[in-house]
Amino acid sequence: MDYQQLIEEVYQEVQSENLKGKVADYIPEIANVDPNQFGIALVDLKGNVYGVGDHQVPFSIQSISKVHTLTMVFHRFNSKLWTRVNVEPSGDPFNSIAQLEYEKGIPRNPFINAGALVITDALCSKFENPIDQITDFINELTGESCVKINADVKNSEMAHGERNTALAYFLKSFKNFDNPIDEVLEVYFSHCAMEMSCVDLAKSFSFLANDGYSIFANRQILSESHARRVNAVMLTCGFYDEAGEFAFRVGMPGKSGVGGGVAAVMPHKFSIAVWSPELNEKGNSVKSIRALELLTDKLAFSLF
Ligand code: GLN
Repeated sequence: MDYQQLIEEVYQEVQSENLKGKVADYIPEIANVDPNQFGIALVDLKGNVYGVGDHQVPFSIQSISKVHTLTMVFHRFNSKLWTRVNVEPSGDPFNSIAQLEYEKGIPRNPFINAGALVITDALCSKFENPIDQITDFINELTGESCVKINADVKNSEMAHGERNTALAYFLKSFKNFDNPIDEVLEVYFSHCAMEMSCVDLAKSFSFLANDGYSIFANRQILSESHARRVNAVMLTCGFYDEAGEFAFRVGMPGKSGVGGGVAAVMPHKFSIAVWSPELNEKGNSVKSIRALELLTDKLAFSLF
């Protein structure tokens, strides 16, 4: 399979379709990005990197960071983690508070905001200097020092963080929150404000395509069984109330962010990251999803 030719074909086809969406504007700093940027990077399990378009431009990874934070806490808590957060698709928007009430403060999954806040709270219980530990961990996964936290994006989100703050207090009212709310929110907004390019992001997901072993960090990041479980949660919950649609159209475990990025894996083959800032009404990148749909259409193999 010539991956370079494949992603170039996909890139051209998507560009010719003239798809439109809307850049996220509830985080004012993100609303300022150039909406026409579009990049794809694919990393195979030998470490070969293929890229097209704006694949080397750093962008705000936002909720894609929830996969990294889940990975950091998973083996430190094992099954105990799943008493605090479930693994069911929510069918609701990423920032919804509705289900938390009748599910007694246990978020539906670790990738909606409520679940990710619980994961960040768990992370704060186990790591000193959690923000440094998160960036160090991701740098290790990529084999280089590539992660930057964009302070303007972080501050912009903190200044408009009413919804996430409400979620954190609601979790606390059900005793599913251990650390001071302000501290955890700062860590959460910081990891959402990390910037990486498609190349770095695809590298940081490589271990999930490789039974938990990172060829860039040269070590087993998660056990094979834990890596499979992270992939299962990505497949069922990685795109909020569009997870079914993504599984139907694309059929890969993946995770999106409101910065317009999507990172996904084809187990035992490759990891891939696509970025284009314009989003559909569910908060997922229009072009990135279309690119991955075309890519899996053209591939001679699939997850299924
Ligand atoms: N930082 C964003 C938020 O908490 C992340 C949302 C997303 O990427 N879906 O609202």
